[in-house]
Amino acid sequence: MNCPVNTFNNNEYEKLKRKIFLVTFPFIFLTNLAYWLFSPYVDHLMFVVLPCFNLYLALIWLFIYRQRHIRPCEIISLVVFGFYHLLRIYSLFNQLEEGIFNVYGLWSPLYFVYIFLVLEQAEAIGYSLFIFLLTVALGIPHLGNPRANDILTQYYISTFLYILLLIFFQKIVPSYIESDMLRKNAYYDSLTDIANRRSLDELLRDEIKLCREHNRCSSIIFFDIDNFKEVNDEFGHDIGDSVLIEFVSLVKSSIRESDFFGRWGGDEFIVIAANQSLAEASQLAEKLRKIIASHSFCYIDHVTASFGVTSIEPDDLPQSLIKRADQALYCAKKSGRNTVKAL
Ligand code: GH3
Ligand code: MG
Repeated sequence: MNCPVNTFNNNEYEKLKRKIFLVTFPFIFLTNLAYWLFSPYVDHLMFVVLPCFNLYLALIWLFIYRQRHIRPCEIISLVVFGFYHLLRIYSLFNQLEEGIFNVYGLWSPLYFVYIFLVLEQAEAIGYSLFIFLLTVALGIPHLGNPRANDILTQYYISTFLYILLLIFFQKIVPSYIESDMLRKNAYYDSLTDIANRRSLDELLRDEIKLCREHNRCSSIIFFDIDNFKEVNDEFGHDIGDSVLIEFVSLVKSSIRESDFFGRWGGDEFIVIAANQSLAEASQLAEKLRKIIASHSFCYIDHVTASFGVTSIEPDDLPQSLIKRADQALYCAKKSGRNTVKAL
């Protein structure tokens, strides 16, 4: 088992970006290959450039797939793709004079999307405008040609609009992510990524209501790590945090999908065992106790936990339910810890 570390979800964006590259690069590779093999409009320059570019694309895809040197790959590709983009634009502009509309006109905005995916906003704006100006410079010799004029103007304006849109999107996306994070922080514990006390409170309220309305029996397991202060004192707070994370993943993998699991606070946790009688929930608590006690944690030999179990009664409120479970837990602590008590 890998030792858990307290890395907050700040690499979600990197994961998403990687997925985008892994999915889109093969499409570009195959389209280029088909164009190279079958199109009658491939000029001498593209006949050489396309296979080289595809080879590079395949290589970069492999690096990204194997998660090797992703950031250097992104930066090198920024230059290589930029060079490729300019060569294709050069070829596109030349073909305009022959009355051929080169299909790269449809693909070129993707390069600007790539720039905005890979660079921070100020750099992305600067770099994309630089590439845009180079594109304009490449078109200048063709501006007098009436066949090229119309397409060139449309191409420049649409590319400029794409860049503007990308600037707006890059501004909007972080605020969406931020509001999503705020929502998540309100209901999930930031260390262990399970339900926090606020969501447990709501879940308990819902479960009590369900039991009352459908005459069903559910139970809760309230548990607390034994002598956890000593872990912090002896090994430090960071190791304490990593024990909490590992403890949570151990419990999570040992309960049913239908059980709710959350952190009540500190080293106290709750499992809401839906549709489970007191006896069944006590069995589950005993199973968890054994699993925890026999587990060898990454940074410390082992920890134990004490468990209080109680079942929901028709007139319960979350507070009365927790109070009863806490009394059971207190009995478990009093009788020597690493044990299960039901009330
Ligand atoms: P007991 O067997 O009676 O439960 O003893 P205990 O030492 O575990 O006592 P208690 O449950 O009262 O103490 C909980 C400790 O958990 C206190 C605090 O130092 C520690 N703790 C609470 N939250 C965190 C956290 O997020 N990270 C770490 N590392 N420690 C925490
Ligand atoms: Mg404790």
